[in-house]
Amino acid sequence: MLKDIFTKKKKYASVPSEQAKHDVPEGIMTKCPKCKKIMLTKELDKNLRVCMNCGHHFPMNAKQRIEILLDENSFEEFNQGMISENPLGFPGYLEKIEKDREKTSQNEAVVTGKGTISGFPAVIAIMDSTFRMGSMGSVVGEKITLAIEKAKEEKVPFIIFTASGGARMQEGVLSLMQMAKTSSALKLFSEEQGLIISVMTHPTTGGVSASFASLGDYNFAEPGALIGFAGRRIIEQTIGEKLPEDFQTAEFLLKHGQLDAVIHRNDMKDKLAFLLDMHQTGGEHEWLQD
Ligand SMILES: [Zn+2]
Repeated sequence: MLKDIFTKKKKYASVPSEQAKHDVPEGIMTKCPKCKKIMLTKELDKNLRVCMNCGHHFPMNAKQRIEILLDENSFEEFNQGMISENPLGFPGYLEKIEKDREKTSQNEAVVTGKGTISGFPAVIAIMDSTFRMGSMGSVVGEKITLAIEKAKEEKVPFIIFTASGGARMQEGVLSLMQMAKTSSALKLFSEEQGLIISVMTHPTTGGVSASFASLGDYNFAEPGALIGFAGRRIIEQTIGEKLPEDFQTAEFLLKHGQLDAVIHRNDMKDKLAFLLDMHQTGGEHEWLQD
């Protein structure tokens, strides 16, 4: 008797969820974490993954960003096949890398290459937080360094979109070394009058925020991006004070002089094109007003 009741219940409970699966296939709807509105993923993608209701900027992977920023078919990728080793023999590291390679169809947490933005050439590096939280290991540092060197060689600007949880702990000090290596490459590029534009996206933290992300001639960010070195809780515990609500947001950093502008994703391509034009030809376009 009891057994029958449980069986019946189970069967009944499974019907609506099966039905729901057919009605709303996974990924077709997306809920905004800020305003909680549920919207069609297709519509959200069309709006450059910016919430139509509240303007929240959803994370983008490298492929999506290349599509919205660079002129069609202009992107030529560098060092696509470069993959991580496990220099410290960290248990389970290579398995985790392999899993993310399958998930993202990318070999690492940064995609580098060259292309044109509204006709202006640039070398571009785009970090991807969907791969190991965009953490910076030896391959990420090496690919970024090689991209900077390529920009220097071809005498074109270098643009980087950052998104990172910081240094990759599984590579220990080799990961930290990438901060110095990328910073040195930027310095050498800068000495030859190379133009560096950094755009910090959510989140840009740890060793990435403390190296190349903050070394642009222009340092920009997307609205609402979390940008900082150590986490809020650690700082609060250390200084024994409560930090402001908007601490470590792009808007807070702009207010305190650490950023040159916070740029809405819809305006990003035009504003980058404006700067590339200005530096290349002394173009006469107007900087778009917010
Ligand atoms: Zn929203």
